[in-house]
Amino acid sequence: MSAPTVEPPVTTPAAQPRGTTGEHVAPAPRPLGSVDRPTISFELFPPRNPQAAPRLWATVRQLESVHPDFVSVTYGAAGKTRATSRAFVSRLLQETSLSPIAHLTCVGTSRAEITAIVEEFLDEGVRSFLALRGDPPAGEPDWRPHPEGVETASALVELLREIEARRCVASPSQAVRARVRPLSVSVAAFPRGNAATGGTRAQDVASLLAKQEAGADFAITQVFYDAEAYLGLVAEARAAGVVIPIIPGIIPTTDPARLLRVQELTGVPVPRDLLDHLGAADDELERHRRGIRAGVDLINGILDGGAPGVHVYTYNTHEAALDLLEGAHLDGATRR
Ligand SMILES: Cc1cc2nc3c(=O)[nH]c(=O)nc-3n(C[C@H](O)[C@H](O)[C@H](O)COP(=O)(O)OP(=O)(O)OC[C@H]3O[C@@H](n4cnc5c(N)ncnc54)[C@H](O)[C@@H]3O)c2cc1C
Repeated sequence: MSAPTVEPPVTTPAAQPRGTTGEHVAPAPRPLGSVDRPTISFELFPPRNPQAAPRLWATVRQLESVHPDFVSVTYGAAGKTRATSRAFVSRLLQETSLSPIAHLTCVGTSRAEITAIVEEFLDEGVRSFLALRGDPPAGEPDWRPHPEGVETASALVELLREIEARRCVASPSQAVRARVRPLSVSVAAFPRGNAATGGTRAQDVASLLAKQEAGADFAITQVFYDAEAYLGLVAEARAAGVVIPIIPGIIPTTDPARLLRVQELTGVPVPRDLLDHLGAADDELERHRRGIRAGVDLINGILDGGAPGVHVYTYNTHEAALDLLEGAHLDGATRR
């Protein structure tokens, strides 16, 4: 995304929506009154330690206030957060109005172990999964896939469908529950190909088609910084026969240090002009305002291009996520 050159106009507070930090976010007006509203959703990760839990729960309550369609909960590389992810998802189910999606990865895990993990989640009442391959561990050149493992996300989608079918055959009451609350399986998509694995967009589209054929219901994208990246992926995917919704994953562009860390992890480069624009801000509030403005422009661009909703990577804080949605007139979108 090119950094915005047009600053939000300064108007009276009554005339413009305000972000949670009080700044004007000056969104472009979006049409209201349509029944088919964009979905809103958030990504969270389980608390890293018990001390982080109270803050995370305060964030969860703030995010709950805009009635998201779902929240997704990450799963540490190679299953490192198995217990905390499960406990967090379970608590979201029991103590909030939120619909959690549990991320699942298969790298470094046997088919039998994955089956056990899925059964645990299903027993807790989880009905939605984001099926991922996961990244091989960094800095281990001799690393090999698990000999009895599941090698791709599409194979994991198939396994999830098989486990659910087996449970329904084994238990008539489970079969009824499955009719009432069908299993939902989502997958990842990569607007410019998966840079971390050296994959191109064409490879990702082929992989997305395989995920759809295996039974995926929708996809969520990796971060990207320009509307064309997302819209181009959708156009290529549709041309290849992918019909499932592709939800754009949006990172709030308010914290340059975080953006650079994400660049390191995902291989998705942060545009230089965006970093310069944020870096030229006089203070933190101005930097936040510039980041939100850039994010709102991006969201408006992809919604205008037909995106079905917006999935915000929160990094377990609510301020920027809610400011983005407010700026794009999406806060409470599902309830209007
Ligand atoms: C929304 C989102 C959430 C994520 N959450 C987590 C998380 O919680 N925990 C975590 O560890 N990681 C997470 N990741 C990272 C993800 O696991 C890695 O990016 C991983 O490298 C790719 O996973 P995948 O599910 O796309 O795998 P796959 O689709 O299996 O792809 C893996 C590689 O195989 C290739 N490939 C597979 N099938 C085909 C095919 N049929 N044709 C051509 N090529 C194929 C792909 O191009 C790719 O290079 C997330 C990523 C996204 C976008």
